[in-house]
Amino acid sequence: MSNSSKNKRQLKHYIADFKREQTYCSQCQTLLTRIFLMRHDQVLNKSHLYTLKERVDEQTGMIFCATLRVLCRFCTEMETLPPTYYFDLRPFRQYLLSQSNANLVSIREYVVRLRRLDEQLSSAHTKQDSIQSLREYIDKLPLSMTTLRGYHVALNRYEEYLLTVSHNKKI
Ligand SMILES: [Zn+2]
Repeated sequence: MSNSSKNKRQLKHYIADFKREQTYCSQCQTLLTRIFLMRHDQVLNKSHLYTLKERVDEQTGMIFCATLRVLCRFCTEMETLPPTYYFDLRPFRQYLLSQSNANLVSIREYVVRLRRLDEQLSSAHTKQDSIQSLREYIDKLPLSMTTLRGYHVALNRYEEYLLTVSHNKKI
């Protein structure tokens, strides 16, 4: 074996090493218990990794790893789930992370609730054109007090986000 081919390893091994070194989600900075890697909007799962057997030198391996995004489960779901109709959840989450004092658990709850509400509204084929009409609409739904309260809290935060965005645009 020549010297150059000895220094080459399969790409999947560089990725495995890279994965082991990660501690925090690049998106929300959560300490990672389970690590997800994404490349160009695709999750790099085990079966995909297994196919990356090409032997490359260390530099090529590092360059490849630099194109990977390290995410927690929640952020991966945010990136891969179908878009929502009523709410722009990605920028909303980004706003909560960077400009509000909400903690991560609350941020997740707001996003999950709005996603659920979006599904509910979409499957009911209802069209509401403002947060206020959404509030009135959900008040009439047969929901438990806890669910309803949760929706309203999330909607309040979403409205706050919309106001901040439109306020920023005016500047
Ligand atoms: Zn995350």
